[in-house]
Amino acid sequence: MILDTHVDIRWPEPPDWTCESGMCVDLPRMRAGGVAGTVFIAFVPQGKRDFASLRAAEERSVAMLEHIRARADGMAAHFCATPAEFEAAMRSGIPAVLSAVENGHAMGVDLGLIARWRKLGAIYLTVTHDGHNALADAAKPKPHLGDGPSEHGGLSALGRAAIREMNRVGLMVDCSHVSKAGMMQAAELSRVPVVVTHTACAALHPHPRNVDDEQLDMIREVGGIAQVTAVASFLRPAGPDGTSPSTVEDVAEHVEHAVRRIGIEHVGISSDFDGGGGVSGWMHAGEMQNVSAALRARGYGERELALLWSGNFLRVWRQVLRGAGA
Ligand SMILES: [Zn+2]
Repeated sequence: MILDTHVDIRWPEPPDWTCESGMCVDLPRMRAGGVAGTVFIAFVPQGKRDFASLRAAEERSVAMLEHIRARADGMAAHFCATPAEFEAAMRSGIPAVLSAVENGHAMGVDLGLIARWRKLGAIYLTVTHDGHNALADAAKPKPHLGDGPSEHGGLSALGRAAIREMNRVGLMVDCSHVSKAGMMQAAELSRVPVVVTHTACAALHPHPRNVDDEQLDMIREVGGIAQVTAVASFLRPAGPDGTSPSTVEDVAEHVEHAVRRIGIEHVGISSDFDGGGGVSGWMHAGEMQNVSAALRARGYGERELALLWSGNFLRVWRQVLRGAGA
């Protein structure tokens, strides 16, 4: 069962996704690729932290979550905010739509947004994007926003409070984009396992967005998961033309490294489609089976593929909701 846990949408003016839309992920492509569910992202780019910018970021996050929920009308697709709803959608054979927020910048300094996002159905928050925010340092600072290498030494006091609030309301903590120090601190602080929804392995390619072996070990220690994504520049160094010649085999290679290091139960796969994801052989949702084929060729069986594509993520999601008392 394939659950793609990180897919962006065009904003504003998202296209009609129920027919061929020209996007990497739409309903026809999900069907062609055997995708059971997609987590669409309410993404808010990092910007200035003045009142007007924060207000606009907050409004954008809410509008996007409302849109993602509305696009799943119950007939073409089911919106799911819990594992039980997701399983019910699977039983009915109807594709599932889920949502999450990318960039804690969108809450400004208002912890109340976390509960509001969860009420709108969001299942996780990616704590930062590229560029430091009020919650944490990012793995990739944005000098044009005034970022130095580090602003908080990892998490800020507000970031710590945000993680406690996420634990309380049952919003998963996604440490993709977060600096190594911030990720390690979040993993230690969170009462439930953290996830890194879209990353790759620094041991194979030392890109700042990738997790190194120490981070992988921490993910195993806390029971979380690291998910390898299809962003070409994370998987391989750039060639002479400035682009990374990454393929679906590189995705399999990074999955294999993570599995060898921390075990199959702590690894996953996500595309980051329509947000920078897409490598030769895995360019859109219609090509998901190529990833499965590459892994099968390396000896992965159906049980392992099920864990990588959704089983491990669902296990952590349930733990997070149980931890919240939901
Ligand atoms: Zn991202």
